[in-house]
Amino acid sequence: MRVETIGNGEPEIAVVGGIHGDEPSGQRAVEGLIDDPPEVERPVKLIVANEAALEADERYLDEDLNRAFPGSHDADTHEGRLAARLTEELEDTLAFSLHSTQSYPKPFAITTEVDDLAREIVPALPVDALVTSGEFTDGRLLDVANVVEVEAGHQGSERAAENAALLVDAFLKTTGVLPGETERRTHLPVYRLSRSVPKAAATDYDLLAANFERVGTGEAFAAADDEEIVADEPFYPVLMSAEGYEGIYGYAAERVGSIES
Ligand SMILES: [Zn+2]
Repeated sequence: MRVETIGNGEPEIAVVGGIHGDEPSGQRAVEGLIDDPPEVERPVKLIVANEAALEADERYLDEDLNRAFPGSHDADTHEGRLAARLTEELEDTLAFSLHSTQSYPKPFAITTEVDDLAREIVPALPVDALVTSGEFTDGRLLDVANVVEVEAGHQGSERAAENAALLVDAFLKTTGVLPGETERRTHLPVYRLSRSVPKAAATDYDLLAANFERVGTGEAFAAADDEEIVADEPFYPVLMSAEGYEGIYGYAAERVGSIES
């Protein structure tokens, strides 16, 4: 794990890239700041989390870091030990954690709930939507840190890397690390994850539905080999892709309103 600070004093703001080793956009955004540090108005901690997994271009070495929190210094897994160290690094900070996805090309934010922090920070970011994790916080950074997570776009894409840099810039401006204003979104739709959507055993998976577009009852939203999977109740697909996760397509979400500002 690489940890650097820009500015003087104890940072209350942190930016984390590379929780997942196959999502290079966050690492690039963080290293861009380290390599060419801007003038800051308050200190910021910059972290590249899972360097070994990034080096290997794998999501993780032993286990998914974003399911391994809080972890332990004596854990048997690389990610279990890393989780404990990262949890300590982020103590007493407001953190911004960068991800990318196979599910959706445009940025969106993820928080545990629509609290004061989410209302303040998320509309200042160049995102399309806020997703709240509902009960899906187990083992995630969301569970142990004061954090806003963002998905910057398609894993490995140039666009995701550009988006990640823009997201970090907006986050650092709205938290007063960098000078300048951000444009606030006046209307931001909010979704809440309600359940994971399992995959049946198959060799080929397809996603038929589009993320953030409502699937109606009876609609075929995915396929496993030649078998179509039909919705038995309406939902919004979120973080859903054919091959992004082992065992699940992603999540069914409900639309729970919006943040107006
Ligand atoms: Zn990720």
